[in-house]
Amino acid sequence: MSSDIAGECSYCRTCIGIGERWVREKVFGTEFDGGSATYEWYHADVFAGQERSCWEKHELERETARMSRAA
Ligand SMILES: [Zn+2]
Repeated sequence: MSSDIAGECSYCRTCIGIGERWVREKVFGTEFDGGSATYEWYHADVFAGQERSCWEKHELERETARMSRAA
């Protein structure tokens, strides 16, 4: 297994296939898990019938969460 191949999409929980576009996000760990960074993968391709890719939906959710905290 090559490191070029992404793992499972953290948004839709399905595997990202070879040749599919993806976004890798570095996630910094908390004190509880020793502070080690991990990576999460998201589909960057927009699936048929969808308006946004998994990555865009993830970004949108994060933005919404940030706005609700600030409010
Ligand atoms: Zn996905």
